Amino acid sequence: MFQYCPKVEGMCGFCAESNWNPITETKSDKKYLFCGMVTGYDTRVEPLPDCWLKMNNKEKANYRKRKKEEYIAFNPDKIQRPKITYK
Ligand SMILES: [Zn+2]
Repeated sequence: MFQYCPKVEGMCGFCAESNWNPITETKSDKKYLFCGMVTGYDTRVEPLPDCWLKMNNKEKANYRKRKKEEYIAFNPDKIQRPKITYK
């Protein structure tokens, strides 16, 4: 299932659509594009600075850290519980 990925500006086999908002953990009216290669709390394509496969390890670590902080800000009660984010 290939979707158009704005980060690679072409069809991408790792992208999939869903209306799930991983930060607020609710279903949205909006459809988001998710990247199957991204790891962390938010695996959506739109906020990525670049295609995940083009980002270096430092950029990935910074991105995951930022998204973790964002997630915790929305879900302060879930901070103690470990969360499995890998599919
Ligand atoms: Zn993609």
